[in-house]
Amino acid sequence: MTAPGFDYDLIVIGAGSGGVRAARMAAQYGARVLIAEEYRVGGTCVIRGCVPKKLLVYASKFHEEFEDSAGFGWSRPAAAFDWSKLIANKDKEIDRLNAIYIRNLNAAGVQIVQSRAELRGANEIYLVAEERTVTAATILIATGATPFVPQNVPGAHFAITSNDAFHLEALPKSIVIVGGGYIAVEFAGIFNGLGVKTSLVYRGEQILRGFDDDLRNALAGEMMKKGIDIRTHADVTEIARSGAGLAAVLKSGERIAAGLVMYATGRVPNTAGLGLENAGVQLNGKGAIEVDAYSRTRAENIYAVGDVTDRVNLTPVAIREGAAFAETVFNSNPTAVDHSNIATAVFSQPEIGTVGMSEADARAAAKRVKVYRSSFRPMKHTLSGRDETMLMKLIVDAESDRVLGCHILGPDAGEMAQLLGIAVKMGATKADFDATVAVHPTAAEELVTMR
Ligand code: FAD
Ligand code: NDP
Repeated sequence: MTAPGFDYDLIVIGAGSGGVRAARMAAQYGARVLIAEEYRVGGTCVIRGCVPKKLLVYASKFHEEFEDSAGFGWSRPAAAFDWSKLIANKDKEIDRLNAIYIRNLNAAGVQIVQSRAELRGANEIYLVAEERTVTAATILIATGATPFVPQNVPGAHFAITSNDAFHLEALPKSIVIVGGGYIAVEFAGIFNGLGVKTSLVYRGEQILRGFDDDLRNALAGEMMKKGIDIRTHADVTEIARSGAGLAAVLKSGERIAAGLVMYATGRVPNTAGLGLENAGVQLNGKGAIEVDAYSRTRAENIYAVGDVTDRVNLTPVAIREGAAFAETVFNSNPTAVDHSNIATAVFSQPEIGTVGMSEADARAAAKRVKVYRSSFRPMKHTLSGRDETMLMKLIVDAESDRVLGCHILGPDAGEMAQLLGIAVKMGATKADFDATVAVHPTAAEELVTMR
């Protein structure tokens, strides 16, 4: 379906997870598509999120692998680590992926423009780098989000964010990470594993608010065993210069000196200066673009997907929303994304994999629940001698026997969560889990043998 009278059928702002999927699919359905990207095609996930993060997580785990090998008979020469080499190799891989994204967009017939884009009207987009205006029948806003750093903390501008962490010239000797969410916890594991003295400073009761309480407590315990200094109920009131480095000053008056301070205090939707007011696009109370179940904004021909809508801020969700948009608008097949029971992993050390309700969520929903819990030492550590405990938990609805939630802390928990996600999405019962014969010897077999 092409729209006469406009330069394009679709203009997509932002070539990240959601925008790229939507652009490619719409073009494959025959639309004339332009995608504008102000930084690098691939977006947060590929360029400075999931992918480089996971590479750094891998890098940071070798230290323990080397230690663990001794119990299996290996003797090892002293290991040395080269940060510059890791970053150079990581950058090479990101360049490769960036090129693949560009190639795939080109192959689908999508026109790419390297420019910031802003709305000038409901059908008009200004391309800043090219100083020209283009028009489209439909516009998709997929501009993602950007790190939030509280502006009311003096000296906060000295701190880095995850964006900078991927390009440090050298590793600091010590770091303070502020925040207790996904990014804070993952980067605490990365820096600690690479030998940086790491403190994590969180304002609340326990890290990873929203996750199952047993997992939160167990993860905090395991992180501390690895040497991470976790401070809870700790508000940072100032970031001050301290010698050649910095110090995070806490409300208690304590100062934690470190070579670097990193803020990982959430992300805000990228809407500043986008010109939404020129097109009748509204924000919700959280500053995200307000959309309906089909990702349509208050302006009839303008849609938004991914982190800029602040629904569930994960790459596979942005991709789904982008695909559903293309189905709805360019394939006459109205498709809404189901945001329930999305499995997720936190690449902490040890890892978290989870799907469905936490015990607290289930109880708050007035469910009568049965809770199955198993904690054990992973088999590998019988010989490695490492003091690390794995935790698995099933939350079951006592009336229907449905498994409402599965929560895992330990090696490969993310991989397990992907598969458990299918079972939970299908409405599996505890009896279905019990009827499944175990795979032995694995850690995951615990999931079908819990009594
Ligand atoms: P993005 O991927 O952010 O893409 C938006 C794009 O729009 C960007 O490229 C930006 O440059 C561009 N842009 C913005 N404004 C304009 C404009 N006006 N004009 C032109 N271009 C513009 N998710 C997971 O599922 N798993 C993980 O392991 C994971 N790890 C993460 C680790 C980190 C450190 C971070 C920061 C995020 C992580 N995420 C992870 C979240 C994931 O990256 C996001 O949910 C996902 O990238 C959102 O996709 P998006 O399409 O909404 O936006
Ligand atoms: P999160 O929302 O996960 O965590 C933000 C943290 O910062 C919370 O602990 C929050 O505390 C704290 N915080 C917020 N504001 C302040 C403040 N003013 N002062 C002090 N602390 C504050 O955000 P992240 O930045 O960690 O990650 C952004 C999103 O990206 C994630 O929510 C997730 O959707 C996605 N992501 C996914 C990953 C994955 O799939 N593995 C990995 C990384 C990111 P409180 O809890 O008290 O509100």
